[in-house]
Amino acid sequence: MCAAQDLDLYEVLGASPSDSVQQLRHRYQQLALQYHPDRLGGGSSETESAVRKFLEVDAAWKILGDQNSRRLYDLQRRAQELKQDRPVDSTVSLEDMTWDGGEGVFSHTCRCGGQFSISEEEVDEEVQRTRQDEEEERGVLVCCDTCSLSVLVSWSSGWTAQVLK
Ligand SMILES: [Zn+2]
Repeated sequence: MCAAQDLDLYEVLGASPSDSVQQLRHRYQQLALQYHPDRLGGGSSETESAVRKFLEVDAAWKILGDQNSRRLYDLQRRAQELKQDRPVDSTVSLEDMTWDGGEGVFSHTCRCGGQFSISEEEVDEEVQRTRQDEEEERGVLVCCDTCSLSVLVSWSSGWTAQVLK
């Protein structure tokens, strides 16, 4: 949901967290060979994505190939999974958010100090959409621009962007 979500390093290697370091090394060597920039001609967008993939694979192996950094990563990964069980930090009413007329966005400060922000257009779109279906819960999930938390921004049924004008 949140774009800032980190890549799963095991997924990058096509491996599983229970794999031994030998298995991980084997996966890494296969992928590194497959995507190695030296094997590809220059210039095309295909090369670019292969280079990106190669760098991902390389970075994943640097962490997972070392016993200590792998253990640390496993802990972080576990914590991340736990957080995903309840990704919504809280519900914020649109009326309680800070309206910036210049930017056309509503914002709310996250407890990490980052910002949750949603544009007037996004809200308007959602208001139009949910107006047709009274049963549907009104709200949009908004991600923090700094951490992985998100809030559900909601509004009352009578809310309309016109009140801002
Ligand atoms: Zn945050």
